[in-house]
Amino acid sequence: MPFTQLHLAPNFLKGVQAMGYTEPTPIQLRAIPAVLSGKDVVASAQTGTGKTAAFALPVLTMLGVHKAGWPRVLVLEPTRELAAQVETAFRDFGRFSDIRATVLHGGVGYGRQRSELRAGTDIVVATPGRLMDFLQEGELKLDAIQILILDEVDRMLDMGFIHDVKRVVQKCPAKRQTLFFSATVPPEIAAVASFALKDPVRIEIGVSRTVTTSITHAIYQVHQEQKFELLLALLAAIDFNSVLVFSRTKHGADRIARRLREANHSVAVLHANRSQNQRIEALEGFRSGRYEVMVATDIAARGIDVAGVTHVINYDVPENPEDYVHRIGRTGRAQAVGDAFTLAAPENASDVRAIERFIGQEIPRLKLEGFDYKAASAFPPRPAPQRRGGHGGGGQGGGGRPQGQASHHPRGKPGAHWGRR
Ligand code: AMP
Repeated sequence: MPFTQLHLAPNFLKGVQAMGYTEPTPIQLRAIPAVLSGKDVVASAQTGTGKTAAFALPVLTMLGVHKAGWPRVLVLEPTRELAAQVETAFRDFGRFSDIRATVLHGGVGYGRQRSELRAGTDIVVATPGRLMDFLQEGELKLDAIQILILDEVDRMLDMGFIHDVKRVVQKCPAKRQTLFFSATVPPEIAAVASFALKDPVRIEIGVSRTVTTSITHAIYQVHQEQKFELLLALLAAIDFNSVLVFSRTKHGADRIARRLREANHSVAVLHANRSQNQRIEALEGFRSGRYEVMVATDIAARGIDVAGVTHVINYDVPENPEDYVHRIGRTGRAQAVGDAFTLAAPENASDVRAIERFIGQEIPRLKLEGFDYKAASAFPPRPAPQRRGGHGGGGQGGGGRPQGQASHHPRGKPGAHWGRR
């Protein structure tokens, strides 16, 4: 079904066309009619599914035109990056209308945000902390909110925003429409949903465990002390445009970036300790191609939307299997191909198995030709196939047999697999 049959107002359809979208994604097909019907919605869908347009387009259609007075729509987001991206989406889709959107987040001064609020705005997209500041100052009132959107609720809870979220919900008028988006809806998140929503339509887009088939995954087993060397060797071996490198920690991200710069790579860094201006500079530089590599932590990278990321390299194995899916979702977007490499030390074996169980597939183990691996024999063997099938990846006893190492066989020419175009 094309966008034209979704009962969106013509000026916002024009906005969609200007963005180059042709077909709605599954979440858009299901959420747009539900939102337009005026009902509350709980959708389990993550970044990368097109969920921003799934709520932005019907919300714009319902607002129609700019109206003086307090804002009518509030969107809560867990991070500054997401807030900025969602506000940009509202502006992009709404470019053929006079509707106004304002973003409120920390890390920058209050001046511009305050003057936009004073000038009057229809849609506020905010992170909880800065929103509470403006509410306390009396610069913003939520009395006119008709639609409240709680986005990435799982991440907001992870980041400790639960009390702020509840306070904000209570400050909104009881008579309102509430839209609730979360990658997963475990019981503690369902509890927030039942607190904030009335008789919602439930939409589940089952992608949270799946990884795009256009992505090639590989695990490179390497000892911790050789990781950086292997990263450099991989960067030298692959044909890349933009590479996103993930680190578990902020400190680690800074260290990787510093060493990559010493090796003459152009590198941006994104993590929670960087100022808003530094983050904007990093993202814009990466998008424009000024930086070929971006080193990021999970939270900072959540929702990063950069077209043309050709490779994701997990310098550290993510502790949480869901983060693996989020990380590699940064490449291979919208039918493009991408490669996702994970550097795994022997001590990461159980995290790797947890990821494989979560995504329901084995990730091939590869070796980089010509790289001088030290003591690779210390890696635990992979479980034999019949054991995996029978027990769902049971214990990893000592003294396993080495024949499970088929993937350690040297491959032919690296370029034959890695080179894109
Ligand atoms: P989101 O899940 O909202 O973060 O969207 C992920 C990416 O998909 C963004 O780059 C969007 O611009 C893009 N996108 C969303 N909907 C569509 C669509 N219907 N057609 C093409 N691209 C889309």
